[in-house]
Amino acid sequence: MSYFIEFRDVSFRYREDQPWVLKDVSFNVQSDEWLAIIGHNGSGKSTIAKLMNGLLLPQKGEILVDGVQVTEDTIWEIRKKVGMVFQNPDNQFVGTTVKDDVAFGMENHGLPRKLMVERIQTSLAAVGMNDYEAHEPHRLSGGQKQRVAIASVLAVAPQLIILDEATAMLDPKGRLEIMETIRNVQEDQDLSLLTITHDLQEVVKADRVIVMNQGSKWLEGTPRDVFSEKDKLRNIGLDTPFVTKLAAELSAAGLPIQREPLN
Ligand code: ADP
Repeated sequence: MSYFIEFRDVSFRYREDQPWVLKDVSFNVQSDEWLAIIGHNGSGKSTIAKLMNGLLLPQKGEILVDGVQVTEDTIWEIRKKVGMVFQNPDNQFVGTTVKDDVAFGMENHGLPRKLMVERIQTSLAAVGMNDYEAHEPHRLSGGQKQRVAIASVLAVAPQLIILDEATAMLDPKGRLEIMETIRNVQEDQDLSLLTITHDLQEVVKADRVIVMNQGSKWLEGTPRDVFSEKDKLRNIGLDTPFVTKLAAELSAAGLPIQREPLN
């Protein structure tokens, strides 16, 4: 089994006089898998994301990215491998055109100019935005902005992309667009994907789900396993996603959803 990320008994607090916001959290992200982390606001999800690319460092435990421990000395190496897309795309734009913006992350990592030109094209094409190179990022729709943000991350050729509530500000169409885009990119480029969300509908297609509660891991498993733990979910005020409920009801009514095509 190859793990791309390993969290080993990680605890974190923002200040010494404040409570721990993560308590002995352990989990792995495998290469090529889509792991989704869900939980209420304040349960520690974003803190996990920031620890994964060295924006924060743990006070207890250790985090390995591709076998390398995240420390002050390794964060630049780590950030090349772990790209992050945040909730508000406007905060991520620095360039006046889409092209400049995609170039910016690569400049930070000191990529050669020729490679940058190539990567601007391939990464924008991967998210279906290749006709927008000269556009101003701020004038794009919410979904298009997030696709450009994903392209900027892809251009650095990471092995893991983290989407931290990256669809939260979008309408349902924009959400679908982003989830489809990232899924296609992930499958085409053999990336690991970590999505952080409080929207349960968004995780039903993930390979694995972790439910966080007050800084601890509450549940972990396939979406099917996690969402069958109705009582444990209800205990922390989470409901089962609509599609899972529908599937259970259809099955109870003798109309199970066909999971494999019939021969
Ligand atoms: P989530 O992403 O699940 O909403 P966070 O990881 O953002 O949760 O936050 C976990 C806890 O850490 C919360 O109690 C939050 O108030 C606290 N917290 C987050 N960022 C900071 C910060 N910069 N300084 C102090 N406390 C913080």
